[in-house]
Amino acid sequence: MPDKFLKPYDPSATESRIYAKWEKSGLFNPDNLTGDGKPYTIVMPPPNANGDLHAGHALFITLEDILIRFKRMQGYKALWIPGADHAGFETQVVYEKKLEKEGRSRFSMDPKQLYNEIFAFTLESKKHMEQQVRELGASCDWSREKFTLDPDVVKEVQKTFEKMFIDGLVYRGKRTVNWCSKHQTSLSDVETENTEEKSPFYYFKYGPFEIGTVRPETKFGDKYVVMHPDDPRYKDWEHGQRLEVEWINGPIMATVIKDIAVDMEFGTGVMTITPWHSQIDFEIAKRHGLDVEQIIDWHGKLLPIAEEFTGMKIAEARPKIVEKLASKGLLIKTDDNYTHITKRCYKCNTMIEPQTKEQWFVKMAPLAKMALESVNRGEVKFVPDNYEKIFRYWMENALDWNISRQIVWGIPIPAWFKNRESGNEEIIISREKPDGEGWDADTDTFDTWFSSGQWPLIVTGFPNGKDYTTYYPTDVMETGHDLIFKWIPRMVIFGLYLAKKAPFHTVYLHGLVNDAHGKKMSKSKGNVVNPLNLTDKYGTDALRMALVVGNTPGTDLSLSEDKVKGYKHFANKLWNISRFVFENTNLAQNNAELTQKDAELLAQVNALTKDITIDIEEFRIYMAAEKIYHYSWHEFADKILEESKPIFAGTDEDARQSRATLLLLLLTRILKLLHPFMPFITEEIYQSMPTKDAEYLMVAKWPS
Ligand SMILES: [Zn+2]
Repeated sequence: MPDKFLKPYDPSATESRIYAKWEKSGLFNPDNLTGDGKPYTIVMPPPNANGDLHAGHALFITLEDILIRFKRMQGYKALWIPGADHAGFETQVVYEKKLEKEGRSRFSMDPKQLYNEIFAFTLESKKHMEQQVRELGASCDWSREKFTLDPDVVKEVQKTFEKMFIDGLVYRGKRTVNWCSKHQTSLSDVETENTEEKSPFYYFKYGPFEIGTVRPETKFGDKYVVMHPDDPRYKDWEHGQRLEVEWINGPIMATVIKDIAVDMEFGTGVMTITPWHSQIDFEIAKRHGLDVEQIIDWHGKLLPIAEEFTGMKIAEARPKIVEKLASKGLLIKTDDNYTHITKRCYKCNTMIEPQTKEQWFVKMAPLAKMALESVNRGEVKFVPDNYEKIFRYWMENALDWNISRQIVWGIPIPAWFKNRESGNEEIIISREKPDGEGWDADTDTFDTWFSSGQWPLIVTGFPNGKDYTTYYPTDVMETGHDLIFKWIPRMVIFGLYLAKKAPFHTVYLHGLVNDAHGKKMSKSKGNVVNPLNLTDKYGTDALRMALVVGNTPGTDLSLSEDKVKGYKHFANKLWNISRFVFENTNLAQNNAELTQKDAELLAQVNALTKDITIDIEEFRIYMAAEKIYHYSWHEFADKILEESKPIFAGTDEDARQSRATLLLLLLTRILKLLHPFMPFITEEIYQSMPTKDAEYLMVAKWPS
C-alpha cells in the first residue's frame, strides 16, 4: 500500500501540488491533447478584476469545470477560455470608494492620472483573482487568457462600433438618459433599480387648469400646458393658444399644446411638461418644436431658472416650493398616499435624474429581431427552458441602448468632434486622430456590456484567428440567471451581427448562492461567505460538491458551512475506501476471472455509469453528483467492502482473486465518475493505482 494512505487526507497539502502538476503538463490546452476529438468550448464569464471572488464565482467555476473535465475525458478537444473583466463602472465605483477613504476624489484628478491608477489597481487585483480561480480547480487554458483591456480587444471593440455606425445601427442622439448625480455618468436601464416609494402627490392651479405632480421642483420651466386633442373638457382651447398664468415665481406666458400622448383618464387630463427631464415630455416637445430647457443641473441642484431656489438640492427645495405655491393660493390639495416607481442608481442608491444628453445609442429593434429569429430557429436553447420566455420578453421590448459612459475607466469611444459649441458640430468615427486642426476626442467610454457582449468572438480571435475557425461557435454559455437580460442577449446579438452565427447553442443559467438560511448574501448584512475560506478549511473538492448537490439549474441555493463539512467527511471516506482497497489487493493479479456475483456488481456500476453520463449530457449535474456520491458511500463502502472482508479472510483463492480484481475496477470507476466533481482527491488516489490508462486522471478515458 502506498505510504501516503497511512495518514489522513490533507487537502491543503494536496490541491496546490496537483494543480501545479496539471498546469505544467500543458493538458489544459486542447492543442496538447492526443486523439482527434471534436472541439468543445466554453467561454468563462470573465470575473471582475477588482476584488475577491464570491460564492457565485465558485459556483460557475465548478459547473463549467465539471462540463469541461467530463468532455475532456470523453476525448473532446475541450477548451475553456479564461478571462478578466476591467468591469468599467463597477471597478470605477470600487476605486472611488478607495479614493474616498483616502480623502481624495476623482473629480479633482487628472483623468490620465486616474486611469493609470485604476489600471495599476486592476492589474494587481487580476493576479489575485487568477490565483483564486486556480484554487477552485479550474482546468482552463491560461495560455489563451484575455483581459478586456488588451490592445487587440480594444481594437476589435472599436472596429465593431465603426461598422455599426456605417451600417446605421449606432447613432448619436440627444435623448433622456438615466443620470446619477453622485457618479456623474449616465446609466443603462439595467444599471438602475426600480423601487416602489410613497411620495406626496400635489394638485396645483395652473391658470384655469388643474395639474398634478410628484415633482414640483421640475415645474419652473413649465410653459406648455398639454391636453389630448379629443378631450371634450378642453374643446374650447386651441392648439397654440397663449394665456398668462400665475406661477411659482410670478406670471408666465403659457402655450396650449394638443398631443395624443396625454392620458385623458389620468387626473384632469391636463399636464404641463418638462422636456429636459422626461422622455415622454421630450418626445412631445420634439413633435411640436418646443423649447427644451434644463432645470436641474448635473449635480442635482436647481439652476438659475428657479430664481430664489437656485442651487438648492431637490429634497430641500421641494417642500419650500410647495409652501410658496400654497401661500399664493395655488395649491389645491395633497394626496399623501401616492405610491409610484422611482429609479435609483444600482450602486449608490441615488435617485436617478432623467437628463437630456448627447449620447451614442445602439438601435436595438433590428438586432433584437435577429436574436429572436435565431431562437425561433432553435439555434439557442435555454437550461432551464423557462428562461427562453424572459429572453424573448427583453428582445421584444428592447429600447435603444445608451452605450456612452462619462467615466475614464473603459474602452474609449473612437469618435472625434469639431465645432461642438457652434451648433455646426462635425463628427468623425476613427480610431486615429483625423487630419486637420480642431478635433477633440470623445472623452466617453463604452458601457462595459458593449465589449463583453462581443466576448465569445474576441476570445476566439474573430475574424481571422485560428481558434475562431476551430472553436467558434462555442458550445455552452454558463452564467448567473440575472444575466439573462444583461449579457446573454448582447452576446447573441453581436454573434449574429458580426459572425452570422449565434455564439453558443446552449445557455445554462444557475441561481444565486444564498447563505445557509436562504438569505441573499450582502456585505451590509454581514452574511457573505467567502468561498476561499471554505476551501482552506475543508478543501476545494468538498466546496465543489456542496455547491453542486441539490442545486437545480436556475434556482437559488443555500450554502451552509455544515454542508461543505459534510463533503469533507466524504473526501475522508473516499481516502479510507482507497486504503482498504490497496491493503487488500496487493495480492491480486488484477485480471482474475470474476465470479458470477462479482460480474453482477460490475454490471451494476456499468448501468450507473450510463445513467451519470446521460445526466451530465442533459445538464442534470446535481443528479449525477448525487448518484456517484450515493454509490461510493452506500453501495461500495457500506455493502461491497463489508462483504469483501470475509472473502479476503477466507480460503477460496478464486473468490479472493476475483474480489481483488473487482475492487480495483470499481475504485477506478468511482475515481473517473467523480473526477469532474472532486478533481483533486480523485487525481491523488489515481496516481497510486497499480494500473492507469493515462498519466493523469484528468485525461483518462471516460468509461462508456
Ligand atoms: Zn450612483
